[in-house]
Amino acid sequence: MRILILQILPDVRRKPAPRFEAQLGTLLSLLGQRGHELSLVGLTRVELSTLKTAVAPCLPQLIYADIHAVCAAVARRSLQYIQEHEFLPVVVGGSLATLDPAACLSLPGVQAAAIGEPDASLVTYLERVKDPAVGQVVYGVWLRDESGLARPQLPSLVEDLDSLPLAERDLFDYAAHVRRTGEIEIAVGRGCPQRCAYCVNRTVERLYADRGMWVRRRSPENVLDEIRGLRDRYAGASSVRFLPFRCHLRANQIDEPLCRRLAQAGCRVADIEVISASDLIRNDVFAMDLSNQQVAAAFAALRAADIRTRAIVYLGAPYESEASLDELIALLHRVKPDLVDARAYYPWPGTGAMKLAHQNGWLHPRGEEQYHTDQCGIDMPACRPAVVAAALKRLRGEFPAEAGDPWWRRWTQSLGQVFQRKS
Ligand code: SF4
Repeated sequence: MRILILQILPDVRRKPAPRFEAQLGTLLSLLGQRGHELSLVGLTRVELSTLKTAVAPCLPQLIYADIHAVCAAVARRSLQYIQEHEFLPVVVGGSLATLDPAACLSLPGVQAAAIGEPDASLVTYLERVKDPAVGQVVYGVWLRDESGLARPQLPSLVEDLDSLPLAERDLFDYAAHVRRTGEIEIAVGRGCPQRCAYCVNRTVERLYADRGMWVRRRSPENVLDEIRGLRDRYAGASSVRFLPFRCHLRANQIDEPLCRRLAQAGCRVADIEVISASDLIRNDVFAMDLSNQQVAAAFAALRAADIRTRAIVYLGAPYESEASLDELIALLHRVKPDLVDARAYYPWPGTGAMKLAHQNGWLHPRGEEQYHTDQCGIDMPACRPAVVAAALKRLRGEFPAEAGDPWWRRWTQSLGQVFQRKS
């Protein structure tokens, strides 16, 4: 079957779309193995001309829309166009379908929504579309038809990740990504043992209760095989390499011996989620189980091991105040990260923090539009939007966000935000 995949995702620092995602890449490999002909287009906003151009050459028989949790509006308008002009059946998946399948089924032309990890559910469903004799119920795929809404349970998790094929990358134009960044991304596992309340991990874990082991890892041999294959395939790009590498660490799980081992293995940059300097926000709201002392110790240990650090922080979270923003800026000046990724807080659908914001009436009426314009998704009475915007501007002026971020880019970014707020 000819399938056009729409990857609908937010604009992140103007990175090109489509963007490689390991889970979607694995799905594409599985579909390719079953003989489906695949085309892929990425949308970060409503681009009808891009859609038209994508549909014409591949003559799809079906659209699969992989929709990010904060892209419902872009998805609705794009699928409206498909329904009115192309008359193609649409199946959806991705984080929006997982967190709100009923809403996905109300999008124009959508006949099915695949929830959670799509390896078994979506692949089986598309086999059924190709050949209805495959069976009636497909676990993990919600359907709406004349008889109403069918909500079958989820299938079991794939516990042996080595049994899955390596993720498809060429459809994402991965060679261009490697040329641009010099980095390859390797997903070594699925599921996370932490339960931060600003993240969808906990919600998805609950969906899979009693459906198998949630935290899973690929074997080292399987990961090394993939790295070797990538180096061969993108041999023209001399900077394709695993070492040095960059990783994401939890500050409450770091000590000096671990940092030394990471440095010996070639770790050059570590991303650390500091999120806030307030214990109330970080631990009572976001359930991070992380103290300021642990944050300071983690940055010190990484610096001692000669690993550069990138702190990720949210501004404008539940219970944020001018005082807590000042504490955050002071903490960052104390721990001195090399880079700071400062973000306006947006409550992700399905998270505990979103429920809290909803119960307190803090959700912003402009909804996900706030996310796409780099503004807070909640209205905290004790922390006006102008205060958050000023703190964001200050942090982005004082700390680079990316390695090699020059002063003029930071300056124009700040200027852009000023104009955005005035318009
Ligand atoms: S934010 Fe927390 S729960 Fe989510 S993946 Fe990271 S460590 Fe795990």
